[in-house]
Amino acid sequence: MKTAVVGINWGDEGKGRMVDLLSSDYDVVVRYQGGNNAGHTVVNERGKFVLNLLPSGILRPSVVCVMGNGMVIDLEHLDGEIGRLKAVGIEITPDNLKISDKAVICMPYNKLQDIVEEERLKDKKFGSTRRGIGPIYSDKYIKKAMRMGDLKDLSKAKQRLADIVEWKNLTLRAYNSEVSAEDMFSWLNKYSYLFQYVCDTGEYLLKANAKGKNIMFEAQLGALRDIDLGIYPYTSSSNTIAAYAPIGAGVPSLKVDLSIGIMKAYSTCVGEGPFVCEALDDIALQEHLRGVGGEYGAATGRPRRVGAFDIVASKYGILAQGADEIALTKLDVLTGLDKIPICVAYELDGKRVNYFPYTDELERCKPIYEYMDGWKEDISGAKSMGDLPIAAQKYVQYLESATGCKITYVSVGAAREQYFVKEERS
Ligand code: GDP
Ligand code: MG
Repeated sequence: MKTAVVGINWGDEGKGRMVDLLSSDYDVVVRYQGGNNAGHTVVNERGKFVLNLLPSGILRPSVVCVMGNGMVIDLEHLDGEIGRLKAVGIEITPDNLKISDKAVICMPYNKLQDIVEEERLKDKKFGSTRRGIGPIYSDKYIKKAMRMGDLKDLSKAKQRLADIVEWKNLTLRAYNSEVSAEDMFSWLNKYSYLFQYVCDTGEYLLKANAKGKNIMFEAQLGALRDIDLGIYPYTSSSNTIAAYAPIGAGVPSLKVDLSIGIMKAYSTCVGEGPFVCEALDDIALQEHLRGVGGEYGAATGRPRRVGAFDIVASKYGILAQGADEIALTKLDVLTGLDKIPICVAYELDGKRVNYFPYTDELERCKPIYEYMDGWKEDISGAKSMGDLPIAAQKYVQYLESATGCKITYVSVGAAREQYFVKEERS
């Protein structure tokens, strides 16, 4: 079985939580894109963990975690993340963590570039997390990046690094900034011990597949942040979609058998960009969702923008992800609302539209809402649809029929066991 667990919306749908839950049936969990701009939260009997770089399978001793070639890796951050997990007794060894030799290293100058550029942009920001992700992906495609495999023998990479730093400084100097090749070399040197985890992960995954192992691909962010299909330029710099998983994992010959879309029962969006269903005037809804849902960025702490569930955007996300089924998360957060708004269509220049438009047009769209009845009962212990109040059942059924995608799991709390299977897979 090769399954992708991907985000249908703007990210923070609860992918980490679902990967942690579902990975009990998997042998390998692979992150295939992005860097430490992700924040995947896992709450289980071992505590609460926020994972930025490591796959969310790392908390299960039986799972081998792979960081694929599609990722960009800040070594300092990875060192810290591994250290924090080890400190609380999570075992991380070259047997259960394998990092692709072809994954790109996110360098301190990339972070610096991100920071100085966001400062230049002032109020025209694109919502960068200032972690160097955009700059390092551009370096990758212009072929001026160091990769994990270079850590094997840094003396061989020294001249190439010096050339890259000289080139990078041409840009940084325009911002009155600069880095030295020596500092960059010592930084790499300091973290070169991480090479112990590096291997040809494509080969590893092909072998695992041949042995019949179950592989899960864990995405970061959501469909609407995909560099190609998302709300460009307010996207991330990588492909967040399931179709990219075999490439970013280094196994293009393997096909994803199942794409599970993680979809949130309402909308949140961290950072900039058009967000049609944002509850701008409905302060009560805003406060409810942010307060009850704890909607503050797991990686950055930024308050997330919040609003009603968006059918137009979610249908687009489902298509982009080729989702076969949906895990609906955070339904419990809606408990207590009298009426629950749902954005059923957009109004664009006076016309009702049902398609997800180009970014320019999207910025002019206004939400068209319909309202459903809310419920007051605590649902955080629900173990079946029948345990939900009728209004909550109707809400779930409505989302299913309106998006046209089968909901198989419903999550009603952050802890591992707070979920139920709505429908068994046929
Ligand atoms: P990810 O980036 O998609 O992995 O999601 P995040 O971890 O950034 O954000 C999801 C947040 O919601 C985390 O704090 C989770 O612990 C929490 N969470 C996940 N599922 C549920 C749920 O069903 N109910 C509630 N109340 N919280 C949830
Ligand atoms: Mg997140």
